[in-house]
Amino acid sequence: MQQAAPQAFDRVLSSMCTDPHPAARAAAERFLATNPGDPATYAEVADLEARAVAALGAITGLATASGAGEGAEEPPHGYVTGGGTEANLQAVRAARDRRNVDGANLVVPESAHFSFTKAADVLGVELRTVSTDADHRADTDAVAAAVDDRTALVVGVAGSTEYGRVDPIPEIADIAHDAGAYCHVDAAWGGFLLPFTDHAWGFADAPIDSLTIDPHKCGRAVIPAGGLLFRDAAGMDVLAVDTPYLESRSQASLAGTRSGAGVASTVAAIDALWPDGYRDEYERADGVARWLAGELRDRGQRVADVELPTVVADLGGGVVESLRERGWRLSRTGCGLARVVVMPHVTRKILRAFLGDLDEVR
Ligand SMILES: *Cc1c(COP(=O)(O)O)cnc(C)c1O
Repeated sequence: MQQAAPQAFDRVLSSMCTDPHPAARAAAERFLATNPGDPATYAEVADLEARAVAALGAITGLATASGAGEGAEEPPHGYVTGGGTEANLQAVRAARDRRNVDGANLVVPESAHFSFTKAADVLGVELRTVSTDADHRADTDAVAAAVDDRTALVVGVAGSTEYGRVDPIPEIADIAHDAGAYCHVDAAWGGFLLPFTDHAWGFADAPIDSLTIDPHKCGRAVIPAGGLLFRDAAGMDVLAVDTPYLESRSQASLAGTRSGAGVASTVAAIDALWPDGYRDEYERADGVARWLAGELRDRGQRVADVELPTVVADLGGGVVESLRERGWRLSRTGCGLARVVVMPHVTRKILRAFLGDLDEVR
């Protein structure tokens, strides 16, 4: 049988995934046939999951935020999900069940990922989508106007999928709590970049209740590896169901059997890269994104300001299609603008070739 081959990464400009770290690849292969959903049988991978959650807690400010000054620090609460979609859905589910009101609603900015549309649909929660400001961040007046005494959860995005924007998280958390609701931060993509910025986004910066951070995006783990974290044990407790035929008594994950590859590769990638490797990559990507934005502006293109390393530009009609015909895996925003996500595989060399093609087709 002829072996199928995946695409190379050298023309992939709009993906939020990238080549996994070599140590993450190796760890994934070692733990491919383990199931962290059955911790009594697969104890080693269950221990690794606890390490992964502790490390994700440290990256997102949970370890320092909870138990600061107290002797016995609680371990962070959470688990390694199949990705950001599962993490976001479970955050909505936890808030719905902790809030426990009839006709619960969920308030998200229009920049929120479509996973919240799925979550609202699956969970029977009303989705209230509010506008963003001129710079594509959640408009806090609009958020405040949308919440009421049936709001279970208010979402802020820290690194939005289209523009890489960071919402005003502390203000959103205050609005949520004033209404008696929970606050969730979606840092699925931004979570491994934001520790090296001045943004207020994590558990140490604001009284948020839960957070999504995906090792399989900027964390350099293999797919599938997402992360869901809660400030309090109650977040995981409300998700747990009894598991009659397993040795362990309860399970909080949405999936039953799940891949130990994601868990093991998360630990391996973080061991290899936190913090210096991730910081170096953030600084490189930030420099490349700003350079690309400048190159496009020099060509007379309209380019959005760069916040996290995503470049959104209006290349004009038909140009994205022509670039796609030349093999560039380039996607558009909802408004039809070209979007380049500067992931680890997106180098200046690749982008110079891209700009050369752009000059030829436009
Ligand atoms: C990618 C992304 C998600 C969804 O994560 P998956 O791993 O694709 O399920 C959710 N939120 C944001 C902000 C994302 O960028």
